[in-house]
Amino acid sequence: MASGEQGKYEFAVHHSLFALLNAMLDCIVVGGGITGLTVAYELSLRGLQGVLVEAEDRLGGKIHTVVEDGFVVELGPDAMVTLKPEALALCTELGLADEVIAAQTRPAYVIRDRRFYPIPSGLFALVPGRVRLRDIRWVSWRGRLRAAGMPLQVLLHPVPPDADVPVGPTFRRWAGDEFTTWVVEPLLAGVYGGDIERLSLRATLPQVATRRTEFLRSLLRSRPRPSGTPETPFRSLRGGLTVLVERLRERFGSVEVRTGLPVEGIHRSEMGWVVETAGRERWRARHVVLTIPPGAAARLLRETAPDVADLLTRAVLEPTAVVAYAWPGTWDWLGTGFLVPRAERRWITACTWLSQKWPRRAPEGWNLVRVFLTGSTPMPWPEMDDETLARTVWQEFIELVGVPAVPHRVWVQRWTDGLPQYTVGHLTWVEAVEGAVARYPGLHVAGAGYRGIGLSDCIRQARQVASRIME
Ligand SMILES: Cc1cc2nc3c(=O)[nH]c(=O)nc-3n(C[C@H](O)[C@H](O)[C@H](O)COP(=O)(O)OP(=O)(O)OC[C@H]3O[C@@H](n4cnc5c(N)ncnc54)[C@H](O)[C@@H]3O)c2cc1C
Repeated sequence: MASGEQGKYEFAVHHSLFALLNAMLDCIVVGGGITGLTVAYELSLRGLQGVLVEAEDRLGGKIHTVVEDGFVVELGPDAMVTLKPEALALCTELGLADEVIAAQTRPAYVIRDRRFYPIPSGLFALVPGRVRLRDIRWVSWRGRLRAAGMPLQVLLHPVPPDADVPVGPTFRRWAGDEFTTWVVEPLLAGVYGGDIERLSLRATLPQVATRRTEFLRSLLRSRPRPSGTPETPFRSLRGGLTVLVERLRERFGSVEVRTGLPVEGIHRSEMGWVVETAGRERWRARHVVLTIPPGAAARLLRETAPDVADLLTRAVLEPTAVVAYAWPGTWDWLGTGFLVPRAERRWITACTWLSQKWPRRAPEGWNLVRVFLTGSTPMPWPEMDDETLARTVWQEFIELVGVPAVPHRVWVQRWTDGLPQYTVGHLTWVEAVEGAVARYPGLHVAGAGYRGIGLSDCIRQARQVASRIME
């Protein structure tokens, strides 16, 4: 290289190094789902300098509301639940309290042998003592009597508070086969989509696993609630959950947002972390927060933090899909949706009748439903193309509910990294991940893959990370 050229080269290197040093940020947030957005919001509130980098062109991650021609279609999460307060508290903090809507108080149903049975609302906590046995009509009397013996069985077969046991076998011992297959399985699959024989009791039902005394007390003492109690734990926002995403975005002051940029590399530098995208954009910061699914985080950390990457690759995520259909006509269906137990061997895991569950989700005179498909169904839906999938699922839907209709609009959304599976060992794995991450100052992981998959769980984790960064 001629000396003049070398001089130019050195200048360029020094110049870009200088630019790099100059751009030392407080934090880089990777991933623009609810976790990343909440971290960025918290950092903005405190005036920290940062950037949030999202691979897709839109923010929100799993929160994906399609608003078109009077339809408000949730293709990701559908509701915030009142039992976990963080999501609703965030809405209030962001001035969205007037936008919060409650679901209709009609019941949800469960299917057994093609018949629909209303689910008593007290059953959602999976405590049979809180509902009248006669209201669990889809379970035989024998099965219900067996489930009624649960308090005694819990005493006879206690699970030590720190033991990690699978949900299925434990409930079979406590409440019997029938109750487990037709009640516990569909209720849990509607949230986690997974296989109850492998899901961890501690990780998915901590109210049952770790607060044993409280649980027993509720089994023994709680008075059954009347069935069809007119209270619903489900809330959303008038314009869909995307409104929360937009409002968070509006509040970012000191945090820049970059979308359409997949992060491809993370390296350590003397003073912190360097994050690089495919297009060779790069930022430097003291902290980096990975709010992307664990497998994706593993790929980024392979060279920099191989021990963390090794642990993260062990995470299991199950594909899920949402298929939504709209058709004209007045059709007053029974309730807000239904669950399909795995034992029914069908494509559908759950169905939400959006236009009946929420106000103004579809134009007047239209029906809007969404169907939830998960790995808990034995059907090979992930291998099908969208058109065949939508046709097959619609066939099953009309067969079940008897709608004499043809869908005029169809939306198909696949989530390949849909639902993290909290199988036995999950919490030990999370502790190991957190321990390994702690060895890299300034590195943080958070989100649905770790300590809770619901929106409120993600918001709580995001706030904890933000506090650690502030410390
Ligand atoms: C179908 C479905 C229904 C659900 N229903 C409910 C419900 O009703 N109520 C509820 O509370 N919860 C529900 N959940 C769970 C909840 O929606 C999710 O757990 C939560 O939204 C996940 O948020 P997150 O921030 O952890 O991750 P995500 O939303 O997955 O966000 C991660 C982001 O990281 C981005 N990313 C990935 N790799 C990179 C990269 N290399 N560089 C940059 N960005 C990257 C992704 O594009 C994505 O935007 C549902 C989930 C699904 C799938």
